[in-house]
Amino acid sequence: MSKPAWIIVGAGFTGAVVAERIASVLDERVLVVDRRDHIAGNAYDYRGENGLLIHKYGPHIFHTNSKRVWDYLSRFTEWRNYFHKVLGHIDGQLVPVPFNLNSIAQLFPSGMADRLSEKLVARYGFGTKVPILKMRADADEDLKFLSDYVYRKVFETYTLKQWELRPEELDPSVSARVPVHVSRDDRYFQDSYQAMPVDGYTAMFRKILNHQNISVELSTNYKDVCGDFKSARVIYTGPIDEYFNYSHGQLPYRSLQFKHVPYSQEFAFPVGTVNYPNEFDFTRVTETKHLTGDRGPLSLLTQEYPEAYVPGTNEPYYPIPTTATSEALRPYRNLARELDGQVWFAGRLGDYAYYNMDQACARAIALFDKQIAPVRQNGGRGQASRLA
Ligand SMILES: Cc1cc2nc3c(=O)[nH]c(=O)nc-3n(C[C@H](O)[C@H](O)[C@H](O)COP(=O)(O)OP(=O)(O)OC[C@H]3O[C@@H](n4cnc5c(N)ncnc54)[C@H](O)[C@@H]3O)c2cc1C
Repeated sequence: MSKPAWIIVGAGFTGAVVAERIASVLDERVLVVDRRDHIAGNAYDYRGENGLLIHKYGPHIFHTNSKRVWDYLSRFTEWRNYFHKVLGHIDGQLVPVPFNLNSIAQLFPSGMADRLSEKLVARYGFGTKVPILKMRADADEDLKFLSDYVYRKVFETYTLKQWELRPEELDPSVSARVPVHVSRDDRYFQDSYQAMPVDGYTAMFRKILNHQNISVELSTNYKDVCGDFKSARVIYTGPIDEYFNYSHGQLPYRSLQFKHVPYSQEFAFPVGTVNYPNEFDFTRVTETKHLTGDRGPLSLLTQEYPEAYVPGTNEPYYPIPTTATSEALRPYRNLARELDGQVWFAGRLGDYAYYNMDQACARAIALFDKQIAPVRQNGGRGQASRLA
């Protein structure tokens, strides 16, 4: 392969989708490098010893309201319908999470449950999703009792474990991800498209990257090879602070340890995931068979243990969205702007944004449509602000 016109750093959703767009639409050569020994980024899955598909970096459930993203990915995979359900381990019971009218019916005596449910419906409307911090501001005594209960039992300790922060310290978009759902719909997501790639994510990524203009080099750190490709344009989906050698300090990330534990019976749980908001060290345990549709006499449970991120020792999984971190990001965005037209930053780590897979995919498509393709059509002179 001749020298690539583009280097893409990271073979996750963002990198793979931009690579595919440049290779197919612009018909230009792309080299994708990833320092891991596999493609698919955090969505990577593989078959373990007992033949079951394992999500190496924790459970990944695909859901989106974007027809564009759905249609795009459907070119590379067939899907199996899957509606994710989560139970929370609360007061010794397993109840639906996000907390909903069924959870209330299960946890409280029937008269009280009816009263709380009626008040919720009257106050917010059936089918609505109410952020817990909003509900806590409600003056009604019953709703105050309920929101305090949910806050203490579902949010407070889970958030402390997951982020080492109190819910109020995080950007409201984070706690809004798990609202109280005024409904009897036990599904974790309500998006129009919810499904799992039928042969897994890695198989889908193989197809996305399977193009004559794309080559992939794994176990390759960009820092070690960038000198060989000085004239190439770069799409960088690794941590933005690392790219600039932490010149403005380290951005904080949250990390996790995953334990994949064999289970010697067909199923351990009735649903995909059980959350442990309280006394356990792990935050949640997922029985991946529910997600993947694998069947057979054995099962596998993935436990997630949150921990601080320490560069060089573990992975930066989650950017931590707070007011302080958006301030800390600003100087890096300014530095990125100076590289306009030569290096583009995108993705969960490049943008330092808490993206789901569909959002990473949409970001990659938009980056290509709005910034990469126009720049190429102008012969490299058209410039736009690269960061959202
Ligand atoms: C535990 C967990 C569960 C999740 N569950 C879901 C879910 O259920 N549904 C959902 O929609 N989303 C989920 N997500 C989010 C999803 O993982 C991300 O949206 C997606 O991975 C973002 O893709 P990306 O390409 O931006 O980043 P990544 O997948 O992180 O890919 C970035 C890649 O860049 C590589 N890289 C970084 N620096 C360098 C370098 N210097 N040189 C070479 N390579 C480099 C990394 O090795 C990595 O492979 C989850 C995330 C986590 C952590």
